[in-house]
Amino acid sequence: MATRLRCEFLDQIRQEIVSTFQEARKIRRSKDLSFSEDAELTRGEHKKIDELVRHLLAGHDGEPCPAGDRPIVSGAKRAEFIHNNSAA
Ligand SMILES: [Zn+2]
Repeated sequence: MATRLRCEFLDQIRQEIVSTFQEARKIRRSKDLSFSEDAELTRGEHKKIDELVRHLLAGHDGEPCPAGDRPIVSGAKRAEFIHNNSAA
């Protein structure tokens, strides 16, 4: 199995997501939130996810993060894929 590249920022943001979600869960359990309070928490969670996705897709000078779990189809491969599948 190939050694996966590590990305410090990716590790850091994953850790932040875990603590953001844990914190939100703790708050939700500790009191009855109003709809807007709950929406606010959810917004915070989504912001972290957005940040993660943005980094995975284009976080390295516009290039995908090499430490991501899934292969990201490059522009050239995507063009090839579209070309090969458009004639069907
Ligand atoms: Zn990265």
